[in-house]
Amino acid sequence: MRIPEDKVKQAWSRAEGKCENYDRHPSPKKLQWENRGRKDDIGWDVSVIEPDDAITPSNLRILCWPCLRRVRKPY
Ligand SMILES: [Zn+2]
Repeated sequence: MRIPEDKVKQAWSRAEGKCENYDRHPSPKKLQWENRGRKDDIGWDVSVIEPDDAITPSNLRILCWPCLRRVRKPY
């Protein structure tokens, strides 16, 4: 699924550059924009919460790679 870049940027600024899986990170895990797509501990990408819904910033979640690989669905 292709996620428009401007939506990713909006979700990123809402998340303030942190992984949004707060349960897993009691203290905020800071990410770097340029590390998007990396498949290691400092990498991150955006996850669609409800794939059937429209792609809006509120339907996106910024996740670090270790969190993302747990939730990623096969699409
Ligand atoms: Zn995380």
